[in-house]
Amino acid sequence: MLERAAVLQVGPLGDEIDRELQAQYEVLRLWAEPGGLEAVARRAAGVSAVVTSVRHGCTASIIERLPDLRAICSWGVGYETIAVAAARARGVVVSNTPDVLDDCVADLAWGLLIAAARRTAVGDRYVKTGQWRTIGAFPLSTRVSGKRLGILGLGRIGEAIARRGSGFSMDVRYHNRRKRAGIPYRYESSLTELARWADFLVVACEGGPATRHLVSAEVLDALGPEGIVVNIARGTVIDQAAMVRALLEGRLGGAGLDVLENEPAVPRELMDMDQVALMPHVGSATVETRRAMGQLVLDNLASFMAGRGLLTPIRA
Ligand code: NAP
Repeated sequence: MLERAAVLQVGPLGDEIDRELQAQYEVLRLWAEPGGLEAVARRAAGVSAVVTSVRHGCTASIIERLPDLRAICSWGVGYETIAVAAARARGVVVSNTPDVLDDCVADLAWGLLIAAARRTAVGDRYVKTGQWRTIGAFPLSTRVSGKRLGILGLGRIGEAIARRGSGFSMDVRYHNRRKRAGIPYRYESSLTELARWADFLVVACEGGPATRHLVSAEVLDALGPEGIVVNIARGTVIDQAAMVRALLEGRLGGAGLDVLENEPAVPRELMDMDQVALMPHVGSATVETRRAMGQLVLDNLASFMAGRGLLTPIRA
């Protein structure tokens, strides 16, 4: 019988995918190893792939301790927690799970936009706590359709968000570092000018040091007291302290946030504001999409092990 290929799994990825990995490969489970990385390293010969996620990451020291490592297959789109430069220096290729989650993350961005503008979560509490009967009419909220939608990061997810904008009769513009060709949305070279123009600014760019606090106090002031910011990217992209101050002082109209800067910690002020809608980082968290992401990790790994290379290598 042929020996099974060996992989190092950094952390658990869910019952289904964990079971499948164990059925197909010899899996060294780093998180379950009492001796940690040092103990795993002693059995590292022959480990040609790491399986991980953006949450568990893959450090340069893991890469260093695996002499036969050739590929890192990660679950999720973001890869800011993976030592990509160290991998590249060793000729180790890296894959993520793009495309399969675009629709679900875009759906949630719209859910948060509508929740912040039309106060749907507040209305739900209003009805369920009996206030509809005791107080009466619910306060007026903000119209969504026909408004101006600005997108920071018109990539795969940003484009899925933009497409939904036409269903809401919105004028859509975007800001990236580079203007994209063949796109029906107007490019804005300045993020501050995009925010000044927009009623709603949706953040959909990548995370990591390069985009840290890109949505600054200045950008939030440009969005203004009627403006709403939605973030489904990474909490670090918005200067969260500046956002909380702007919301408290009425310089920013509202926020819909799936991600926070030091999640799962949530500033008390955000919890107390009706103009803020919060979700616990669940952009891709539907049964269907999570299954597709797990399958794509397995498919990347299988393709790599069969000598056909990764199916979805990262573009960095
Ligand atoms: P993508 O296709 O790579 O798109 C990223 C976009 O951001 C690109 O258009 C890029 O354009 C732009 N961008 C990058 N750096 C920028 C900068 N410094 N300034 C302005 N624009 C910049 O990625 P995607 O698949 O759409 O995913 C986007 C992000 O969503 C991921 O990185 C991840 O962090 C987040 N995400 C969140 C969830 C969730 O559960 N909430 C789920 C999946 C993904 P240029 O290169 O031209 O600048």
